[in-house]
Amino acid sequence: MSDLESFRAEVRTFLEKETPAGIRGAALAADTGYWGGRKPELPHPDSKRYCEIMASRGYTAPTWPKEYGGGGLDAAHAKVLDQEIGKLRLPVPLTGFGLAMIGPTLLQFGTHEQKQEHIPKIVRGEIRWVQGYSEPGAGSDLAAVATSAVDDGDELVLNGQKIWTSYGDKGDWMFALTRTDPKVKKQQGITFVLFDMAQPGVEVRPIKLISGASPFCETFLTDARAKKANIIHGLNNGWTVAKGLLGHERNMIGSLFGSGGSRSSADASKTRKNPLVDLARAHLGDDDGRIADPVMRDRVTQLGLDHRAFMLTVQRSADNAKAGKQPGPESSIFKIYGTELNQRREELMLSLRGPQALGWEGEGFTPEELAQTRAWLRSRGNTIEGGTSEVQLNIIAKNVLRLPD
Ligand SMILES: Cc1cc2nc3c(=O)[nH]c(=O)nc-3n(C[C@H](O)[C@H](O)[C@H](O)COP(=O)(O)OP(=O)(O)OC[C@H]3O[C@@H](n4cnc5c(N)ncnc54)[C@H](O)[C@@H]3O)c2cc1C
Repeated sequence: MSDLESFRAEVRTFLEKETPAGIRGAALAADTGYWGGRKPELPHPDSKRYCEIMASRGYTAPTWPKEYGGGGLDAAHAKVLDQEIGKLRLPVPLTGFGLAMIGPTLLQFGTHEQKQEHIPKIVRGEIRWVQGYSEPGAGSDLAAVATSAVDDGDELVLNGQKIWTSYGDKGDWMFALTRTDPKVKKQQGITFVLFDMAQPGVEVRPIKLISGASPFCETFLTDARAKKANIIHGLNNGWTVAKGLLGHERNMIGSLFGSGGSRSSADASKTRKNPLVDLARAHLGDDDGRIADPVMRDRVTQLGLDHRAFMLTVQRSADNAKAGKQPGPESSIFKIYGTELNQRREELMLSLRGPQALGWEGEGFTPEELAQTRAWLRSRGNTIEGGTSEVQLNIIAKNVLRLPD
């Protein structure tokens, strides 16, 4: 038996014997997955236990080094693990900004001590991380961050305001961009620092959105404290770290929304069944196995083709990442395409459901129809979060196509 095949058999036995039976078959959408943290929310009663069992083998972060609690697998073995998880229809064991953003960034820029301190807690889902980048005066022009970080012995003292902090009210630790030198060129005076949000100087206020939900917050820092040991890549070197992390973020946003929130990218690219087809048949009728309306049939088919091509490309990039390649400026292409695909998908679903997708509350609508209205509104933010589409086009023009300024 080849090495990969014996690994497959070993993984299958582990998953069948050790994972809670109730969570098998419960493949949850990635965006409603288990995020861990000190006050974890459980999308499934067994989510926490399942995460801990998977983390005991490093399977929440299969390709991260064993030394820091990861699985230590190469790309080929990680793919086998993903396939076996998919066969049992198990959910992704852990999701969130620890795994998708700060973890890979720490592996790239952190010291051994910083990795030892933070990575195992990410792998085990013990700490939920949030991103403190945007400020009222620093969005697209991110290097304009003004939150000050002033030297005070072993610590930095932080004052300022962050905004659009996704899940700020649920976060345990923040990774933040701070201003440590206001006198130099703006990119050169930024420090990337981590701090515990459970302290008196951190106040988080949820912001209510058009969809009715409050997935993000304003975060006010008043003499909050960060240990200098948690400065990543040195004082005033934060811009390099910030850009590195954005590459991971844009890949995550592009592949998550582009996949329509499916279980995993590999799973999505293999799925033959297109939920839009069922929805279209239910609302427009079935013409001998085909969607009755030819115009809508064309739109559904085109979206299905675009989705499949995109997910295969994402899979190729994910395989590169598993092999240790850091995302480059081309992650902006994924970000644009994936988020626009999701907006097209939501708009098509709205068209298929007709007036039933315009409900906000009341008995005339099913829970799925009400969720559809909100999902459509939520998708408007896709082309803003993680850097707007205009900003991604600028990056592609300059750093991928090398067009003149
Ligand atoms: C759902 C969601 C979640 C988010 N989560 C987080 C989070 O967790 N943490 C965090 O720090 N931030 C978060 N953000 C903030 C997000 O990163 C910013 O909204 C984004 O970077 C844009 O900044 P801004 O809102 O200040 O818009 P602005 O920068 O003010 O842009 C306004 C408009 O001007 C355009 N524009 C600006 N500059 C240029 C240019 N040079 N060329 C062409 N057009 C330009 C933009 O494209 C946009 O259309 C989130 C945003 C959303 C919508």
